[in-house]
Amino acid sequence: MPATVTVDAPLPVLGHEVRVPLVTGGEVPYAALDYAASAPALQRVWDDVAAYAPYYGSVHRGAGHLSQLSTDLFENSRATVAEFLGCRPGDDVVFTRSTTDSLNLLAAALPSGTRVFAFESEHHAALLPWGRRADTAVTWLDAPRTPEQAVDALERALAARELHGPALVCVTGASNVTGELWPVRELAAAAHAHGARIVLDAAQLVPHQAVDVAELDVDWVAFSGHKLYAPFGAGVLAGRADWLRRAEPYLAGGGATRSVARGAAGEPVVEWHDTVARHEAGSPNVIGAYAIASACRALTAAGFERLAERERVLLGRLRAGLAGVPGIRVISLFGDDAPRVGVVSFVVDGWNSSHFAAALSAEYGIGVRDGLFCAHPLLRALLVENGGAAGECGAPGEAPAASAIRVSFGVGTPEE
Ligand code: PLP
Repeated sequence: MPATVTVDAPLPVLGHEVRVPLVTGGEVPYAALDYAASAPALQRVWDDVAAYAPYYGSVHRGAGHLSQLSTDLFENSRATVAEFLGCRPGDDVVFTRSTTDSLNLLAAALPSGTRVFAFESEHHAALLPWGRRADTAVTWLDAPRTPEQAVDALERALAARELHGPALVCVTGASNVTGELWPVRELAAAAHAHGARIVLDAAQLVPHQAVDVAELDVDWVAFSGHKLYAPFGAGVLAGRADWLRRAEPYLAGGGATRSVARGAAGEPVVEWHDTVARHEAGSPNVIGAYAIASACRALTAAGFERLAERERVLLGRLRAGLAGVPGIRVISLFGDDAPRVGVVSFVVDGWNSSHFAAALSAEYGIGVRDGLFCAHPLLRALLVENGGAAGECGAPGEAPAASAIRVSFGVGTPEE
């Protein structure tokens, strides 16, 4: 490792000055290679938040100057996110806590009788919110081995379902395990051809590529601020307003209500907002929303084309490096040539992944992730395929003992 790091990244992030003591003595700059879990904050985001912090005030109902200012910034942040995502006129942008929260909100808002379809290869956040209500159901589809297979499998599943009642497809834009890109536009077309709607889990896509809701023709998109260089505890659910505005409020409380009264028999008489406020009860995370908007502006200004070009170079270098190490097996669903973002997972013959990741940290100052990446069904399948012993990989109902190592990076990653 070099003693100093040249930060040649197009968008500076925090943390480059952090140095890590090594078990072998001395210290090195921290190599942050776990962006897919949480990306470091953009310097720009940090500066914007610091500049705004003295002006922070409660939003929406305060008459004071700072409340007015904060309300403007909060609502402008919503507009910035809508523009960033290419939302259609009339789409809602709801500020949530995270992708997990956004998908749970949508699950709570599904019309009664909705059947949801999701590939078993998804992150648990995209697999588990559905089917928790007695009046909705979920079907998990086999992990496909090509993007074409994904579209075919979805077509078949939708065609086979009974032709009444609402349906929703939940699909990831980029896998948090393999980094592979999913054929979102084609899946959206298949969903719509069968009268279903589609939500895009863009947690791993928005940090790497421009996402245009209207152009992809997805009904909703969900993502997290902390993976988009804005680690202040906010997320987004954006898309069609109709199901959201007809649904029971996600949280019951102040801000979501137009009027609350006590009825003649002592019962609550509540009139809920039928605007985006319906699902934003309580005091919202204004700083988190503002930070997301700041990240959206910074990434747009830097240009996703340029960012992606550089990422391709880093990805090529990482993959070539890994390919040169005997015993390393990169795991993938769609194969070596599939387009992907800067996320690569692998196993190492003869190594326990958590020991390997711990050694990377202790001996080299490299921070990666090991585990099952909240995608147990996918990991179980890919571990078996890559030489994991059946017992280690776990049967359905038990967590695999074996695991993988994931390296992920983004706009702040220096070439070193
Ligand atoms: N979806 C994908 C593809 C993810 O990678 C993650 C997090 O790793 C999530 C959803 C959940 O995101 P969060 O933990 O921010 O809710």
